[in-house]
Formats: sequence, C-alpha cells, structure tokens
Amino acid sequence: MNKLKTIEIEQINGISKRMIEHLHNQGIESIYDLLYYFPYRYENYEVININRALDNEKVTVVGQVMTEPVFYFYGRNRSRLTFSILLNDVVVKVVAFNRHFLKNKIRKNLDVTVTGKYEKQKGQIIAQKLSLKPFENDRIEPVYSLKNLHRTYFLNVMKKALKQFKHLVDEDLPLSIIDKYRLISIEDLFQFVHFPVNYEQIRQAMRRVKYEELLKFQLKMMVLKDREHKNIKKKSKEFDNSFVDNFIKQLPFLLTNDQQKVTNEILLDMKKPYQMNRLVQGDVGSGKTVVAFISLYANYLSHYQGCLMAPTEILAEQHFQYLKKTFKHYQIEIKLLTSSITGKNRRIILEDLQNGKIDIIVGTHALISEGVNFNQLGLIIVDEQHRFGVNQRKILREKGEVVDALFLSATPIPRTLALTAFADMDVSSIKEMPKGRKLIKTYLINSQLELRLIQFIDKIIKEKQQVYVITPLIEESENMDLENAIHVYEKYKQYFKGRYEVGLLHGKLSNNEKEKVMEQFVQNKIQILVSTTVVEVGVNVLNASLMIIIDAHRFGLAQLHQLRGRVGRSNKQSYCILVSDYENDKTKKRLDILTKTNSGFEIAEADLRLRGPGDFFGSRQSGLPEFKMADLVDDYHILEVAREDAIMIIETNELFTNPEYFALRYYIEQELIENQELFD
Ligand code: ADP
Ligand code: MG
Repeated sequence: MNKLKTIEIEQINGISKRMIEHLHNQGIESIYDLLYYFPYRYENYEVININRALDNEKVTVVGQVMTEPVFYFYGRNRSRLTFSILLNDVVVKVVAFNRHFLKNKIRKNLDVTVTGKYEKQKGQIIAQKLSLKPFENDRIEPVYSLKNLHRTYFLNVMKKALKQFKHLVDEDLPLSIIDKYRLISIEDLFQFVHFPVNYEQIRQAMRRVKYEELLKFQLKMMVLKDREHKNIKKKSKEFDNSFVDNFIKQLPFLLTNDQQKVTNEILLDMKKPYQMNRLVQGDVGSGKTVVAFISLYANYLSHYQGCLMAPTEILAEQHFQYLKKTFKHYQIEIKLLTSSITGKNRRIILEDLQNGKIDIIVGTHALISEGVNFNQLGLIIVDEQHRFGVNQRKILREKGEVVDALFLSATPIPRTLALTAFADMDVSSIKEMPKGRKLIKTYLINSQLELRLIQFIDKIIKEKQQVYVITPLIEESENMDLENAIHVYEKYKQYFKGRYEVGLLHGKLSNNEKEKVMEQFVQNKIQILVSTTVVEVGVNVLNASLMIIIDAHRFGLAQLHQLRGRVGRSNKQSYCILVSDYENDKTKKRLDILTKTNSGFEIAEADLRLRGPGDFFGSRQSGLPEFKMADLVDDYHILEVAREDAIMIIETNELFTNPEYFALRYYIEQELIENQELFD
C-alpha cells in the first residue's frame, strides 16, 4: 500500500492541471490519498417498492408514464410539470418543479426513474431527480466533502486512478485472515467504497476497513510496547516470595481471587528485567489499596524506596494512617508529604528521603515538586490516576532511574477499550468485590417524593448513620452549582434544625475549608453533608450509608457510580437515592441501569454505549486514539475481534516469522518510524 503514497496524482493519465489543483486543495497529493478519500455518507437512489414506502420518505422508483404531462408556467421562470406513472400495480402522480426542459421529452409509455419525497396521502412524489433512462450502477451515490469540485469529475478521476494503479495496490492483510472473516479484497474495497452498486457492498467495505484499521492499531501498539519493555531495562527486583506471602497471611482478611491474581501479575512484573507499566482498574471498594501495599512491601524487600501519590490531602492522609497501621509490626519507615507540611518538618523529610532513611513516602502533588529527591526509588504508585495529568505521572516516574509504575483507577472501562486507550500499559482488572459486601440498594424517584425522602434521612440518622446529598452539576456555570448547593443546604438545615448538623462542601471553598468540613463529617459532627461533586474521590467514611443525588440525570453513569461508591463501605446496608424528574424514556433507561447493577464494569459498558467514548472519558483525559473509519462504540465488537487476533499474531510471533504477514509487518514498521516522535 505504501507504494501508492509515493506516486503523485500528476501521474494519472490525462489528468488536467485544474483537477490537480482541485485535488491539492483537498489535501490529496498521492494516489494513496486519493483512494483513501472516502465519502462521508451515501445518497440512496436504490429503487424501492412504493407499497413499502413511508409517508414523506425519500424514494426512488422506476415506472411507466401513463398520461401526457401537464405543464404550465407560473410566476417568472417558474414551472410545474405533472404526470402519472405506473409502478407495478399502483399509479402515482409525479410533480416536478422548474423542469421545463423535460416538457417535450416525457411521453406516454416511456420508462422513467424518479427520486423524491413520497407524499403518501396524496399519492404523489415531489421529484428531486428525474431521469429518462433507467439507473445503471449509480443507485447509490457517495457524497464527499469537496470544495468547488463536482462529484462527477471527482469520481471520474477516481475511476481513472483505480484502473491505472489497481495492480499496485498491496494487500496488507494475510489471506488467512481475509478467508477467516470472508473480508473483501483490497481491490474490491476501493471499488465498493467509491462505486457501490448496493448497500451490501458498502457494508462489506466498512467491515473490512474498520477491522483492518483496528487490527493495525493494536498490532502497532503491541509491537511498540514490546519494544519499550525491552528497551527500558532495569535490575529485576529480588525479594523472597515467602515474606510477601506471610505479610498477606497476617492481613485481617483473605484476598479475593482477583486481588490475588492482580498481586501476582504485579510481583511478576517487578521481578522482570524491564520496567513495569501497569494499570489496575477496579471498582470503588474492590480493594486496590491493599494490592498497592503488598507491592510496596515487595519493593521494600528488594531494598528500594516506594512512593504512593494521591490526588487530595485527605486521601493521602488516609493512606498514610492505613499504611502505618498495616506495617505496625514491621521496621519500615513511612512518611507523609503534602503541601501543608512545611518548614523544618518538610526539610527533615526531604533529607531523609534523599539519604534513604525513608522507605515509603505517601503524599499529594507535593511529591512531584522540585527538591523532592529519592535515594533509590524503585516503585511509584499513583492512586486515582485519572486525576493526574500525563506529565505529572511522568515527572514522578523520573524521580528515579528506572522505576516500576503502577496506576490505580476506580473508573472501570470496558477492557478492550482500556487496552486501546491505555495501549501502552498492561491492564489488570479487579472485578470481584470482597466477600460480605452488601449491595447498595439504589432507587430512582422523582422530586415529588421529597417528604418521604426527608423521613428516610431521619430514619437513617436515627440509626447513627450519615448522609451525603449531592447537588446537580450545571455545566455552564460553577456559580449556579453553588447556588443550587446552598439552596439545598439551607432547606435541609431548616428541616433538621436543632436535631442534626448539616454541612456544605463546594468548589469555591479553599482547600483548608474543605478539609475542615470533611474532617467534621468524618468525626460525625456533621450528619448530613451537602456537596457539589467536589466530594472527594476515594474518601472512606465508613459510617455514611445513604447517598442522595439530586437531578441525577445531569450526571454521567460512571460518575453516578463513583458517587454512589462513597457509601456501602461497611457491613451496614447502604442506599443510594437518585432524584430526577426525567423527561424522557431514554433518561429513565439510563438511570435505571444503576438501580439494576452495582458493577462498575457493567455500568461502564452501558454508559459507553449510550454516550460514546468522547463523553465517557470527559475532556480531561480522552487519550483515545482517533480512527478514520472505526468508531470505538459502534464497532466495539470488531475491536474485540481485532484485539484477539493481534494478541495471537504477536504471541505466535507470526508477524515476524510467517511470510504471509510480511506486508502487515512492513506497514507497521513504517508507521512506527513515521510516528516516532509521537511515542517518545
Ligand atoms: P478501592 O479499591 O476503592 O481503593 P479500598 O482499597 O479502599 O478500595 O478498599 C475498600 C475497603 O475494603 C477497605 O476498608 C479495605 O480494608 C477493605 N478490603 C479490601 N480488600 C478486602 C478483602 N479481600 N476482604 C475484605 N475487605 C477488604
Ligand atoms: Mg482507593
């Protein structure tokens, strides 16, 4: 295929200067560019049976003229031409405006092809296109985005180019794959895309293009990952597995199978002679922290320093306390570093970090600031990794020489998508929840039930539990978010006056103020916490068992699920109430998904299908590759198949050994060279 990239369109026989200019204007330089200049949609002129047409549907029909046309002018230069045609057993009237040139050509008994809007009640078609010869192959017209260039001319050049250079088109896909999926050949592809005879051809063409695109992408990333792995060599970490096992044994609970599996994957990575780059995704509450701790322990046993970074001070503090508790009986030096730790304390920590006295440090962004230097950093772990930018993760990583890296994410995304978005990482998933977890009961109610809701809050607090109330997110305006939150806050304060304390948390508070409110909630000095979505991720207030989300339809499913994950953290039954006066069925359907499942993975898939990957990831962290033809949502199944094939091709090493794969391999090598800087 790459050959065609080197042949310029000037080589097309008989191409005019003007046309060359036109094509250049479209960014088309080579034959390759031209053949891959795909239409963005197709106009349908497929002849249909009028009996099956809907009112106002655009149809194309072929029929015999039954009556002499009636023609008259009205106004200046305006004309109307009408006649009847016979379609099988139905007579339909055809109305054509401003086609006076056809007046003498329409004759009784002639066959005509008409495209236009079918007005069923009146039994007439308002013609947009009227042709005296039956259509041949142009029943489906590709529509291209072309500036000042008529499709007909464009297709003429396309036809010429295809004829002249067809024999130079390389087939990148091996025959075995083409056979396996009954894909059309690459030659047919261009024929079908630009000159389709029917919709089946277009479908076949798209199937092939998408598969090919996704397969190539996956292969490219896998080859790249392999290479990176092999390039970034490190000293493999040496630790005694039995020590790690003993540590796991003394934990107050048994690891779930998934936790054990992921732990093994990580420990294996650490022992390998090249850098670990692994994403662990697991639902809120699936127990990622302890997996991180085990890794830190193994790292410590290998005589390296470890580092755990969290997005907020509250979370960092929480991890710090939990680490100290977990390693109480071990001689491990653990310290906390946040931006609130200043002066002498900070200086001592930085010194001890540099001289190797500290074994494990946990903290916030403060860890990536200048002046934070390690003695021998071996492992970094980034919790709630999506809250950090790529750069921040990179800076942390570069605090050591060759550092193993583990990223934790509580936003599960469908595995294949994860493998695509994070194609340069290995991905582990914890799907299973620790035993004994009660499902969070989730209900969808409308705001008229507010009184009952208040009673329910009352009941929950009487049982010594606490409540979160999340107020809607209004994208256009942070101020309105705030107003909303204040409004709800005032309302609840009024209701529960003299009985319970209500707190308010929102984005306009300073970090200090936020921490204060949060602290009061942790200590149950506040029973009801009204908050915008700033309510911190990962925060563990075991005593909170009711989550109320107002105007739930304003949130994405994944986000609702995250919010819901703030409760259900103890063995108490927890509840999530979604309040929404949804207006349509689609919204209800979306929210209903939450009432039916507690699995973030299932929700993620549903959400992805409903909203598409762009929205799904939010603007902050799209990270998704762009595809020419394939759509990661609609073509999810092709993506999965392509992924499996790619793995097989890499694992069997066929890409490099089987001559059938030569073209594919060549393509990938070229791509990797061309996009070098992209991956550096
Ligand atoms: P997340 O994956 O959301 O970070 P955490 O690591 O905070 O979840 O774990 C949530 C809670 O579950 C913690 O209180 C933790 O001690 C507990 N936990 C973790 N693993 C297990 C297990 N295997 N059995 C029982 N409880 C567990
Ligand atoms: Mg966590």
